[in-house]
Amino acid sequence: MKIYDTLIIGGGPAGYTAALYAARAGMSVIVLEMLSPGGQMATTTEIDNYPGFDETVDGFELAQKMKAGAERFGAESELAEVTKVELVPKIKKVETTSGTFEAKTVIIATGAAPREFGLENENELRGRGVSYCATCDGMMYRNKTVVVAGGGNTAAEDALYLSKLCKKVYIVHRRDKLRATAAYQKKIENTENIEIIWNSSPTKILFDKIVAGVEITNKLTGEKTNVECRGIFIAIGRAPNTELFKGQIDLDNDGYIIADETIRTNIPGVFAAGDVRQKPLRQIITAASDGAVAVKFAEEYIGG
Ligand code: NAP
Repeated sequence: MKIYDTLIIGGGPAGYTAALYAARAGMSVIVLEMLSPGGQMATTTEIDNYPGFDETVDGFELAQKMKAGAERFGAESELAEVTKVELVPKIKKVETTSGTFEAKTVIIATGAAPREFGLENENELRGRGVSYCATCDGMMYRNKTVVVAGGGNTAAEDALYLSKLCKKVYIVHRRDKLRATAAYQKKIENTENIEIIWNSSPTKILFDKIVAGVEITNKLTGEKTNVECRGIFIAIGRAPNTELFKGQIDLDNDGYIIADETIRTNIPGVFAAGDVRQKPLRQIITAASDGAVAVKFAEEYIGG
């Protein structure tokens, strides 16, 4: 069986940047991706915060370009769902729905997925008013009214970001106190166009092809109110895709892989790049950066 220098699990920006760097460094490299390249990026229709484009770029197209860019230098790709990993041995083994692969190093770039609210029509309205990323999609709601659901740091950060673009931002939170840090709370209090709707949750998305509003239910009184808005940003946490690695790799309390700026995990020869890693900013550019760094240390590991 062929033993790759590096095997990359996940074909998002971290995975394909790692593949590009590895292939250009003359390493044999394969990327295992589940459905299509891009990960979360591929579900974003308008990307304006990745440098090098003078026009808005579609996430799906950018993903295809990242893949083609890596393949240009000899990186291989395989559509396969990983079912089991053996990461501790010197030659690492990855079992998938398309067979078993072996490699000297593994770069885990499986990403994270925003938690869904589970509202009716939530999925089909993605990109038509339902969003999970204010930095990615906020610009589409310039001068409009939006709702942010959640009360943690992400919801607070999203609301503050959106308040600079939007006419009005409602934060809908299920309790009477934000989970977000005091610094964020103070900023929110001082932002005129943010209003918090306490003890409440969105219970229905109102729409006519695109989002037109949200029905909000007060959890204490049961009272229902319709809030007119063009966007609903769901910020109730994210879940890293690390189920496969539990018990083998050190994870933090939220399930993210612990790896510092060298991208090395606790297992020699295994690296974690992109959103799957514990880190302060999860963006395409930081994922791409991790991919490049992972290869530097993978090369170093192979070289002994
Ligand atoms: P989080 O801290 O887990 O907050 C999730 C929020 O969503 C909470 O307010 C929670 O309500 C609410 N929520 C969860 N499930 C819900 C449901 N089913 N219905 C209604 N509300 C629901 O998640 P996060 O804000 O994404 O942050 C994740 C981690 O990243 C945190 O450790 C956070 O501190 C960190 N982070 C840090 C920064 C920063 O430091 N700049 C920025 C963003 C994120 P309850 O409060 O009632 O539980």
